[in-house]
Amino acid sequence: MSYLRDIICPACGKTYTADEPHNICSCGSPLLARYDMEQAKKDDELFDERYSGIWRYHKMLPVRDMSNVVTLGEGGTPVLSMPEMGRYIGLEHLYVKDEGQNPSASFKTRGASVAISKLKEFGVTDIVMDSGGNGAGAWSAYCKRGGLNAHIYMTAKAVQANQKECAIVGGDVNMCEGHTTILGKKVSQSMAEHPDWFDVRTMHEPFRVEGKKTIGYEIVEQFGGRVPDVILFPTAGGVGIIGIHKAIEELMELGLADKMPRMVSAQYEGCCPVVQAFEAGRDTCEVWSGPMDVIPGGLSAPKAFADKLLLGILRETGGTAVAVSKEDTERHWKQMAQSEGLFVNPEGATTLAACEKLKKNGWLKGDETVLCVMTSNGIKYDELVTEVPNLVTE
Ligand SMILES: *Cc1c(COP(=O)(O)O)cnc(C)c1O
Ligand SMILES: [Zn+2]
Repeated sequence: MSYLRDIICPACGKTYTADEPHNICSCGSPLLARYDMEQAKKDDELFDERYSGIWRYHKMLPVRDMSNVVTLGEGGTPVLSMPEMGRYIGLEHLYVKDEGQNPSASFKTRGASVAISKLKEFGVTDIVMDSGGNGAGAWSAYCKRGGLNAHIYMTAKAVQANQKECAIVGGDVNMCEGHTTILGKKVSQSMAEHPDWFDVRTMHEPFRVEGKKTIGYEIVEQFGGRVPDVILFPTAGGVGIIGIHKAIEELMELGLADKMPRMVSAQYEGCCPVVQAFEAGRDTCEVWSGPMDVIPGGLSAPKAFADKLLLGILRETGGTAVAVSKEDTERHWKQMAQSEGLFVNPEGATTLAACEKLKKNGWLKGDETVLCVMTSNGIKYDELVTEVPNLVTE
């Protein structure tokens, strides 16, 4: 059962029926799903305990008939307190949400599960997208699970784990040399040749963000309705930030969350179009034209398609955007493993490096409650660990 009402354009206000698939608005903006909040408010069993993970929230997700749900057990990841890491950065109340515990070991599974379930419900058979790695892994797996055909253009810079996962799952996954703009062109070409393939690129349809929204629902529940003061997310296309913000907005309207946190995007200095736009006071990103100098992973988007939405959220919540160096990221990546035993992903570690910067310049106070989202699992990035100690004792 779902309280989905319609699809709305956050830029021009145009509404669309929720009964057929849509890509973007005629004005060019991404679209968002809207729910019947009055009905939802009256429901005392809004979260359905018969299901686990993200599907506990199925009434606030778009799938109407639960038989269409395509799941591998995504969601329900822990919030963990990080006292040692907090001491290192100078924060008394530091937490992480460990999205590395998802199937396919990244938060991308949440968006894949919800969007693919809904597209299955619509009768869509083929999807097409580009990916930096984790998206390709998640979407090819969930398409297999749901009986859809995935056509994916994935950067050859993706870590081995992503490439091998796609290879073993199978599907029409194409490795491409070159950066994201080339991937985008491949997607456009393939759609011209196959008009029936449905475009699921980041923020080009409204349901992936609904899946990401469940991170926000879980955070609010895990903190007992008292939302952390600040939430940081490693940002590329901005779906994580937009999804968590949408969740907390809905939960505030339902009387289930006490406040909106300051939302913070972390990016590498070597690819930070969102940080540049934020600092320049612009409401759109310029395409990143400099050399792409990042640790391999999901943070190499030269432009966020949903830039207006994303920058609007960072500003309206009193948040910010922070660029961090590869060196500071690596230092926090190792520190997290060595002080807390948690082997996170480098993208996740950018948020910790961002915390250190924000604490040093006074933007973060030492007694604030801060939550960083670890978007994947360090095990997926093992090839980046170059100093392997000799563990043999004789
Ligand atoms: C895709 C990805 C991101 C970026 O997320 P957005 O929602 O596109 O901003 C961050 N970390 C990892 C591991 C990713 O795969
Ligand atoms: Zn519009």
